[in-house]
Amino acid sequence: MTTQFGHVIDGVEVGSVDGAAFDTVDPWTRQPWARVALGGRLDADRAVAAARRAFDEGPWPRLGFAERGRLLHRLADLMEERRDELALADSRDMGKPLAQARHDVGRSAQNIRFFADHARLATADTLPMDSGHHAYTRYEAAGVVAAIAPWNFPLMLETWKIAPALAWGNTVVLKPAEDTPASATILGRLALEAGLPPGVLNIVHGYGPDSAGQALTEHPDVDRITFTGESGTGKIIARAAAGNLTPVSLELGGKGANLVFEDADLANAISWSVEAIFRNAGQVCLAGSRLYVQRSIYEDFLAGFVDAAEALRVGDPRDEATQFGPLASEEHYRKVAGYLDLIEQEGGKLRTGGLGDGWVVRPTVVTDLGADSRLVREEIFGPIVVVTPFDTEAEAVALANDTPYGLNAMLFTDNLHRAHRVSAALDAGTVWVNCFFIRDLRAPFGGVGESGIGREGGNFSREFFTEPKAVIMQVDA
Ligand code: NAD
Repeated sequence: MTTQFGHVIDGVEVGSVDGAAFDTVDPWTRQPWARVALGGRLDADRAVAAARRAFDEGPWPRLGFAERGRLLHRLADLMEERRDELALADSRDMGKPLAQARHDVGRSAQNIRFFADHARLATADTLPMDSGHHAYTRYEAAGVVAAIAPWNFPLMLETWKIAPALAWGNTVVLKPAEDTPASATILGRLALEAGLPPGVLNIVHGYGPDSAGQALTEHPDVDRITFTGESGTGKIIARAAAGNLTPVSLELGGKGANLVFEDADLANAISWSVEAIFRNAGQVCLAGSRLYVQRSIYEDFLAGFVDAAEALRVGDPRDEATQFGPLASEEHYRKVAGYLDLIEQEGGKLRTGGLGDGWVVRPTVVTDLGADSRLVREEIFGPIVVVTPFDTEAEAVALANDTPYGLNAMLFTDNLHRAHRVSAALDAGTVWVNCFFIRDLRAPFGGVGESGIGREGGNFSREFFTEPKAVIMQVDA
């Protein structure tokens, strides 16, 4: 195997201190396609030391917003120029259809551009005081940021963390998920090509427990930990961070409710509902995996929804026409396939879907399950949706909120009053009305309950990646 991906530490692409490496597997061919450096505690230490030096002594935090922004925009330019290489890396690592991976690279470059501009243009509070004093706020870079990412939108979620951290003058150690290492190394190479100084963006590969991930979360020289992944992992990381009182931002799992009211535009509701659960083969924290439909339109909706699910083109991710690929790894395929076995045991009805070839689980629609079914309660993180009828608005809201998660919810209605009323009543960090997945990077993003702690996006990212400082001056002598 000739394709290799190393760590990127202090401006150099390197192997692990102990020479360890692992294979990354293409879930469509089910064959290894590249060899990746496998980092441990020593590699994490090296990366943190490099980031620390670059923060304490290097030019990056002192460059100013305009110059940092110029370099970050250059990085975004390079990402767009190398869109195909980056997209292919994510597609081979986790089976994402290439067309969608290309789209994700565009959004990743946009993450970099947005936060570069946001930091440069941000204003801060000035508070004239009756006492003849004047208070103002400074946002000072926090220091070394450890960013730990999942595998479902590799480059997009990595840049969502890295971009604000860098724009505000921090240095970063990124640990991508072990299933999707390739695009992160390419990003590290491009950052150097763009002119980011050595040590500003470091990439360390490895696993979580007893590996590079755990080492980063326990490191006393790390000033911020931003994590996206499973709720259980988030709790472990919160405990590790508590040892050093390191602030954490946790973007965790979800079990999104999708409410379709009888006054909704049916075609629009069907098309977004298909997108909401089957995009990225359902491996989306925001997936609309609990679909509640008002009884008067339930049968019509279900028929159209099943047809649309069956029309999705399942197959080789590298085929431009493919809309739906395999699950990201054998381990994940086995987990999701296990839920298919539960359908019958729990008294559910399979309307369409089931196992496909290789590590494919086809778009799967299930009905007739109760609120305590494991398929309704647990995050499957795959292409399985449970559809349930409801009668009243109050019942719909109660069903939607009956979950330990609270990342997002969707609702479809043409009644303006209902749209506002229900949006307010849903316990979720984001509510989409008559749409899904549309983002404004200024808006808060995060979840309630088991879906996380904190918010990122726009000023919310600034609050997390800086130390806001109050300065109070006497103005009247
Ligand atoms: P995961 O928690 O298994 O792993 C995420 C990352 O954490 C990986 O890089 C992993 O190596 C690392 N890790 C694991 N254990 C660790 C430890 N003890 N210490 C330090 N690092 C550790 O999650 P996953 O399977 O990669 O991703 C899927 C999950 O991510 C789903 O639950 C999904 O809902 C969630 N997710 C949430 C969001 C969001 O924005 N809220 C976005 C995408 C995915």
